[in-house]
Amino acid sequence: MADTFLALRQNIARVRERISRAVERSGRDPSAITLLAVTKKFPPEVIRAANELGLCAFGENYVQEFEAKAPAVRSLSSARFHLIGHLQSNKARRAAELFDVIQTVDSPKLARRLNEAGRLLDVMIEVKLSEEETKHGCPPEAVGEMAAALRECPHLRLTGLMTMPPWSDDPEAARPYFRRLREIGERHGIPGLSMGMSHDLEAAIEEGATCVRVGTALFGPRPRVEPDSLERHTLE
Ligand SMILES: *Cc1c(COP(=O)(O)O)cnc(C)c1O
Repeated sequence: MADTFLALRQNIARVRERISRAVERSGRDPSAITLLAVTKKFPPEVIRAANELGLCAFGENYVQEFEAKAPAVRSLSSARFHLIGHLQSNKARRAAELFDVIQTVDSPKLARRLNEAGRLLDVMIEVKLSEEETKHGCPPEAVGEMAAALRECPHLRLTGLMTMPPWSDDPEAARPYFRRLREIGERHGIPGLSMGMSHDLEAAIEEGATCVRVGTALFGPRPRVEPDSLERHTLE
């Protein structure tokens, strides 16, 4: 774990450097950008190590996977946990108990279920900007309606929009999607924008991201394991 701790420290420094260069180029305020460390498929020790190295925001994709890790990380008082994977309404109550932020609200029904859990949550609307059938999210033309539904929910606080452009290894290919998300946010008066990952965070920041979701650039390639066998693996 000692070597991996050093490697993680270096990776965090590199990512922070990339973020600050992009922030400088675009004349933005560095404090306006949250580095969300995406820890899906990694064991809880990785979250603990990253928190010790100063990271406070963590993104997980699966309710069940995080349910297994939560007991080991709940005591980290500075850590906030974001759900960034698709959420089914039947898991909404559990998700509301486990996470502090739900970035993937994409239907009024899901919003109602989360609200019914009764815990104060920050939420984002996931917007589907690509034509890919596999992508979840609210269609751009329904964002206004979705925002109105969320504003009716006393336990939910709408803080932003989130999107996932179609995969491409060319970061510039994502830029038009990032710009589009910003325009939708402006139109509806929604300030936060969760967009950009390991390979395209610069373009996202230049287009106005307030949260970049970074996995691989911090932790290396994800282990190919089932969530319930995670404890047998450590950081590569
Ligand atoms: C896995 C994941 C990420 C992180 O991707 P990397 O390329 O590893 O940085 C970001 N956002 C979402 C929604 C993800 O599922």
